[in-house]
Amino acid sequence: MKNILLVEPAYKNPYPPLGLMKISTWHKRKGNNVQLIKDTPHSPSLDLFEENEICYKKLKNHYDIIYITSLFTYQAQFVIETIRYYIDKFPKARTRVGGIMATLIPEYIKEKTGIETHVGLLRGAENCPPDYSWYPNLNYSISFTTRGCPRNCPFCAVGKHEPIFKVKENWPEDIDITKRKIIFWDNNWLASPNFEKDVKRLMKFRKIGITQVDFNQGLDCRLFDEDKIKLLSQIKIKPLRLAFDNCSEDGYIQKAIQLSQKYGFKDISVYVLYNSEDKNDTPEYFYYRINEINKLGALTYPMRYRALYNANGQYISDKWDKKLLRALKLSLMFYYTKGMITKSRDAFKKIYGNNGNEFKHKLYEIYEKDKRINSRLSRSNSRIKSDFVVP
Ligand code: SF4
Repeated sequence: MKNILLVEPAYKNPYPPLGLMKISTWHKRKGNNVQLIKDTPHSPSLDLFEENEICYKKLKNHYDIIYITSLFTYQAQFVIETIRYYIDKFPKARTRVGGIMATLIPEYIKEKTGIETHVGLLRGAENCPPDYSWYPNLNYSISFTTRGCPRNCPFCAVGKHEPIFKVKENWPEDIDITKRKIIFWDNNWLASPNFEKDVKRLMKFRKIGITQVDFNQGLDCRLFDEDKIKLLSQIKIKPLRLAFDNCSEDGYIQKAIQLSQKYGFKDISVYVLYNSEDKNDTPEYFYYRINEINKLGALTYPMRYRALYNANGQYISDKWDKKLLRALKLSLMFYYTKGMITKSRDAFKKIYGNNGNEFKHKLYEIYEKDKRINSRLSRSNSRIKSDFVVP
């Protein structure tokens, strides 16, 4: 029997680490002992090392394999720090590093830590259901009906992590029927040849009390048609997520929103990528896209592009600039909640104007206003500080 430690680095992640949860099931099925921890920066139980030499001596040789996961490249520092820490504390364990970041920038990790990462999905674990026992309060199941995506958008990491589009027939095994919701992380469910079959399976789950379904990566608006939306309306997808990332979706997105509304979907949100390497991705074209969505009464979720292969995550397209990017972020923080542009048409026009030029102008105004407030604040802070200086 082996002792396995699964570690999620200290980066922020709204979801639990699915890959580690699957590895947990995989190893438990082999009869191994498994422990899963969030490194915050290091688990309190492991921090005993620092204080308790006897405890550390006991644990030092305890683990046979340590798996460390990774997510986005801009979180690289957390992952590097975690890898270094565990290599140092458990020199005898075999350290395995995987996940999206490990797939995108393996050379960087090798250079910083000496570790050869695992690239792509881990075959043995991939077919195992997640081990939900590590997250007893999680109120949803997580699954994929497919892996990969038949499209190959240049700004997307999916093709690298899951290069082949394939159906995952056994996804119902991932579902914990005591939870009322399923979140699917599919990249392109509508492209699946199993789409109709999956809808029927979801309707059966609905009958036993699983009443909410979310495809949180969005559905491909170019594949929408009346038959599909009729089927989708039979399962309670909430919210219905779409994307308007580039001009290949123009025309389709508007029709998809209208069709969805016709079939009763009220909660529709649309991801809108900006600051990408696409030559059409200008602030004016961003305005055009968010305006189209707002006119139709759907919600917009702007998503800032981060360079896929850059560990520091700093990327500014030559069509955008620092001020515009900062001001867009501020506008989402000041005027909206959860980074989402909500439906009110009047508010939208007040905040972002009536066209692309006004949009840029308004953003520069927001930027300047924020700068003025900050300099006033720092002046008054230094005044407060000087009040405390004993003459
Ligand atoms: S359609 Fe979506 S998931 Fe597929 S490659 Fe393009 S961005 Fe990625």
